[in-house]
Amino acid sequence: MSVLTREEAQSLIEEVLEVYPEESKKDRLKHLTVNDPSITQSKKCITSNRKSLPGVMTIRGCAYAGSKGVVWGPIKDMIHISHGPVGCGQYSRAGRRNYYVGYTGVNAFGTMNFTSDFQERDVVFGGDKKLEKIVHECEALFPLMKGMSVQSECPIGLIGDDIEAVARKTSAAINKPVIPVRCEGFRGVSQSLGHHIANDAIRDWVLENRKDKMRETGPYDVAVIGDYNIGGDAWASRILLEEMGLNVVAQWSGDGTLAEMENTPAVKLNLIHCYRSMNYISRHMEAKYGIPWMEYNFFGPTKIAESLRKIAEQFDDKIKEGAEKVIAKYTPIMEGIIGKYRPRLEGKKVMLYVGGLRPRHVIGAYEDLGMEVVGTGYEFGHNDDYDRTIKEMGDSTLIYDDVTGYEFEKFVEKVQPDLVGSGIKEKYIFQKMGIPFRQMHSWDYSGPYHGYDGFAIFARDMDMTINNPCWDSFKAPWK
Ligand code: SF4
Repeated sequence: MSVLTREEAQSLIEEVLEVYPEESKKDRLKHLTVNDPSITQSKKCITSNRKSLPGVMTIRGCAYAGSKGVVWGPIKDMIHISHGPVGCGQYSRAGRRNYYVGYTGVNAFGTMNFTSDFQERDVVFGGDKKLEKIVHECEALFPLMKGMSVQSECPIGLIGDDIEAVARKTSAAINKPVIPVRCEGFRGVSQSLGHHIANDAIRDWVLENRKDKMRETGPYDVAVIGDYNIGGDAWASRILLEEMGLNVVAQWSGDGTLAEMENTPAVKLNLIHCYRSMNYISRHMEAKYGIPWMEYNFFGPTKIAESLRKIAEQFDDKIKEGAEKVIAKYTPIMEGIIGKYRPRLEGKKVMLYVGGLRPRHVIGAYEDLGMEVVGTGYEFGHNDDYDRTIKEMGDSTLIYDDVTGYEFEKFVEKVQPDLVGSGIKEKYIFQKMGIPFRQMHSWDYSGPYHGYDGFAIFARDMDMTINNPCWDSFKAPWK
């Protein structure tokens, strides 16, 4: 049950759009809808993955952010050069909290910022020579790094540098992969195209290299794809898969290594958590190597149990029994957590606006705590994401695509949820409005939230935020 009726939700959308000029209103209307779970295809009710309107405050990122910030950056034993001016790398450095094990600056480089620090002369005369020099410097300074990727920022595509030629030349010279990624920020409409470009670079420059060097496979080898180990998420997921008897040979890309990526075409099953950012490479491995893939959801005990059973279905009785044992082991622990937090959270309403998988995947975890998600949306979702979302959301709830800062504020003002879960750009606005807020990209410096271990932390964090007495103590400065 939504807080609004269908008619109220529809008139709220129209009221919020009223301030826009006619053309903008028409455009934005296509991105906002009142959910009807009986609809089978979201294209009937919502438009997505289109260019944001000039003049509105979009919350999206760029293609470089999708490639460097999401897909490539967490591969810990490679050096990822932010190729171009210094700001793109520096301001995006380490913000996503992709935890890893290793010695930073020795055999792991995840939190460091490597940049070619483009100056005016590089734009005028080209940066290929500088790039070549940097590859050799990195090899000399960090001999334990396993390879490099070149993450192109906007100017690289504009001046026509041949980073592919530099990559081939330097790769042969240092005898390690150097991978050019054409993820200039201006490509596409959001970070989503950056994910796709990053996946294509893995296909063409990593998996292709491995043809004759494939490791032997075991019957239970799987890869975890699209878990970026935010606050340790992939670790909390991986232990469940291993406890049920599977052998996780690769983790993409949080706490991942180049060798793990190279070995993935030998696994029996690819398990995808973030469908949006990694479905491309999973589809490629299915077509080229015959590896099946399936999505799973490790948020909250209900979805975890469902997913463990669905994964086990792909294997023999040993794994099916293993899954049941894992579920039986953790169920009493989860009941204890729900018993503690549900009475404090029952009936609370949540509005979300996030990226990748979270706008739909966390709904079950909130429901396990007796809470209801009454509005959700994606920064860079496509219609296959919304197809999955309309089934998870309740009737007459709000769904908003590429929501503008203004629209989101107005929806929250009207719906008055007990919690908003979104990103750093939204956090302080809602907190100043006195609305409890969790940063749902980086788990607000907490986590993990995946797996059974993660649910204990998720429940504690939601309680700590919603029931914090501070919210009544201040008034929005503009009121
Ligand atoms: S849009 Fe271009 S300049 Fe801006 S952060 Fe992305 S790559 Fe850098």
